[in-house]
Parts: sequence; C-alpha cells; structure tokens
Amino acid sequence: MRTPIIAGNWKMYKTVGEAVELVKALLGGLNVGNDREVVVCPPFTALYAVRPLLVGTSVALGAQNVYHEREGAYTGEIAPGMLVDVGCKYVIIGHSERRQYFGESDAGVNRKLHAARAAGLRPIVCVGESKPQRDAGEAEPIVTGQVRAALEGVSAEHMADVVIAYEPIWAIGTGDTATPADAQAMHLAIRRTLAELYGDAVAQAVRIQYGGSVKPDNIDDLMAQPDIDGALVGGASLKAESFLRIVHYR
Ligand code: PEP
Repeated sequence: MRTPIIAGNWKMYKTVGEAVELVKALLGGLNVGNDREVVVCPPFTALYAVRPLLVGTSVALGAQNVYHEREGAYTGEIAPGMLVDVGCKYVIIGHSERRQYFGESDAGVNRKLHAARAAGLRPIVCVGESKPQRDAGEAEPIVTGQVRAALEGVSAEHMADVVIAYEPIWAIGTGDTATPADAQAMHLAIRRTLAELYGDAVAQAVRIQYGGSVKPDNIDDLMAQPDIDGALVGGASLKAESFLRIVHYR
C-alpha cells in the first residue's frame, strides 16, 4: 500500500530564526506513526539550520527547487548533491510558480528530475492546469501530458522514488480548492497514465499528492479519496497549528 505523504512548501517565507521556531513547534505537536510521511521544504537559506532539529524525528527535509547540473559556473543555482549534503531527502520540481515566473519548461523539469534522482533525492514533481485550460475542457490532456514529459526516460525501477503532485494552478494560494471528486478524477487519470507507461504494479505504488489551498477544513475529505495519497501544502504549512491539523488528517 502507498504511504501517504504530506509536505509543506514554505515558498519564500521564513528567516532562519522563524524556520527554526516553526520546526520546533511542529515537532512539539506531532503525533504520527509510520502510517504517513511528513516533509518540510523551507527556503534554501534555512535548510542547514533546520536539518539537525529533524534528525531522528519522523519529519524529512525537502528543498523547493534544484538545478540539473552537478556543479559548475551557474551563478545562483543549487546542485542536487548540495541538497543531499545539507540533509534533503526530497525536492520539489516544476512547481507552477517556477513554470510561471521563471520559465521552467517540461523539458527542464525532466532534466531536473533525472539529476535529482541520480543524486539520491526523491523528486516531488508538480503538474497542473490553468483556469482557462480547465474551462476549455483540456485539463486532463494537459496534466497527463505534463506527467509524460516529466517522466521521459525514467525507468520503472526508479519510479519508486518519484512523487507526483497534482496542483491545479487556479487552486494555488487562492482558497479555491478542487472538489474532492474533481481532484480524485484527475489523480485517477494520472494513475492511468502511469499504468500505460509502467504497468499496473508501478502505477499502484506511485504516490500522487493533491495541492492547491489544502486547509484543515478540507484535508479529511481530500484524503478520503482512493487515489489521493497526500498533500502538498503552501500557505497552511506556514503555521504549526494548521499544518499539524493537516498532517493529523483523519
Ligand atoms: C503550493 O505552494 O504548492 C500550494 C499548493 O500552495 P497553497 O496551499 O497555498 O495553495
């Protein structure tokens, strides 16, 4: 069975001091077994400070982005090995904010995925449609196309490390969540695409998170859907109280 995974994407929020305080508050209130995985993705600047607090806990560390080269003259970029060095287990790749504001393409997402995986990181690969695409009835082909493009050249055996996050762009940071039924329908479409690419056994094992205005009051209904295996949480992960309620979904 798939172990649900709840990840907090802190985006460009939290100083080092604030990040440390938030992690301490999370650890103070966390009461989970190994029936679910919890990940926090602070900004790069706070990773090193947060890491020692997480050692030996049930919370893993993740980063929000990575570059696809191992090292070199790429001013301002962070290599996969550097994230491993600082204790990251996961890395978010292809978040819609990166696609929208930093011009990340499907091909770039694919390069990052390969580089991250080769370094031993577990990629959380984000896909999702815009509002006009949904209104035009194109959501499913757009999203499944993004999945295929992101996974180009990734073997079945490596899919065990990959998490997919379905994040409809119109739901991110807007308070406008997909209904559990609409989210479930897209998760099923993604899983069917994985089955076409890798066969049923692999498709059934891959975890697919939902992201987009996940809050304490909608997490239970989302997690009750059969193909929703966790959440990628932005705004509600910035406060211990709301993230803890989400992590402790029922
Ligand atoms: C996100 O940043 O991935 C996200 C889903 O944000 P929010 O929960 O704020 O919509």
